[in-house]
Amino acid sequence: MIKKFDLFIEEHHLSCVKKEVSLKLLTTVKCGGEADYLIDPDSYDELSKIFEFICRNNIHYKIIGNGSNILVSDLGFPGIVISLKNFPYLIELHGGKLSVAAHIECAYLQKKCILEGLSGLEFLSGIPGTMGGIIAMNAGAFGHDVDSALDSIKTVTHEGKIVRIQAENMEFSYRKTKLPFEKFIITEGTFNVQKKNMQEVKELCDSYISQRKSKNLWLALTFGSTFKNGADYYAGELVEKCGLKGYSIGDAQISKSHANFIINNGDASSKDVYLLIRKMKDEVRKKFGINLELEVKLWGDFSYAGK
Ligand SMILES: Cc1cc2nc3c(=O)[nH]c(=O)nc-3n(C[C@H](O)[C@H](O)[C@H](O)COP(=O)(O)OP(=O)(O)OC[C@H]3O[C@@H](n4cnc5c(N)ncnc54)[C@H](O)[C@@H]3O)c2cc1C
Repeated sequence: MIKKFDLFIEEHHLSCVKKEVSLKLLTTVKCGGEADYLIDPDSYDELSKIFEFICRNNIHYKIIGNGSNILVSDLGFPGIVISLKNFPYLIELHGGKLSVAAHIECAYLQKKCILEGLSGLEFLSGIPGTMGGIIAMNAGAFGHDVDSALDSIKTVTHEGKIVRIQAENMEFSYRKTKLPFEKFIITEGTFNVQKKNMQEVKELCDSYISQRKSKNLWLALTFGSTFKNGADYYAGELVEKCGLKGYSIGDAQISKSHANFIINNGDASSKDVYLLIRKMKDEVRKKFGINLELEVKLWGDFSYAGK
């Protein structure tokens, strides 16, 4: 399959393809190996053509935003990683609807919203993702998830078609979404916003940011919450009750301030992090009989970490 992709690259003179690219620096936890290929197309034409080829040939692929919810195996990811970072810039307001390109970082969008006095997305302040990643994960904080503010998305489908989908057809639930088709790339999100006083928007964003900073996890190398919360429990509380706050394996450590966060203290391998994830899961299952569900996405093979 990969040979076929090499031929495809040559045939179409694709300059947006790089081989054997380290993913370590493309994730916020800063560990993990290489992807066979990283592609960063700069137009719908290029993306549609490549994505249709990948899907038609069943080539293993992933889409990366800011890498803030991903743990890549030390052995890397055997396949193609697609990034939209070179896609055209778009932040455009029409009436009460704000359209934003998927690769725009949430922090950048927040600054724009403050400058323009646009309210509705303040609760996302401090989430270190791109808007594409935020929609795909149905990310949220402070009692709101992004689906509550989403009008629609633009997406490239497995057939290379560009399709707009209304939020109500996206089957959002806690930290996930499902589209009418299995394989898709979000290229744009349109959000409902309201015009407000600039100072009011800024104050709300600032208050969310300072609540995050007070938890001491602001500059840490991490992927945020390791596990999803349940209907009647907080994953971090269960891990804490197992006495695991501060517990470490190699240079990976369960945060002393938030037991659902794993921190890379500088030189952790993905294996260290993975073993810590397993330890948290095992201890919680033993003590409470609860099977924690991962929020972080694991990329590649982790069987080398052993049983
Ligand atoms: C310090 C810290 C704090 C965090 N706080 C929160 C929080 O409060 N709330 C919360 O919900 N999350 C939080 N997170 C987790 C993370 O930031 C979110 O999940 C975010 O939405 C991920 O965005 P990303 O661009 O980094 O996506 P990535 O990590 O790159 O990807 C995440 C998933 O989305 C998919 N994806 C990314 N872009 C696209 C696209 N364009 N089309 C289709 N699929 C795509 C990827 O394939 C992957 O499955 C936190 C993380 C950190 C490190």
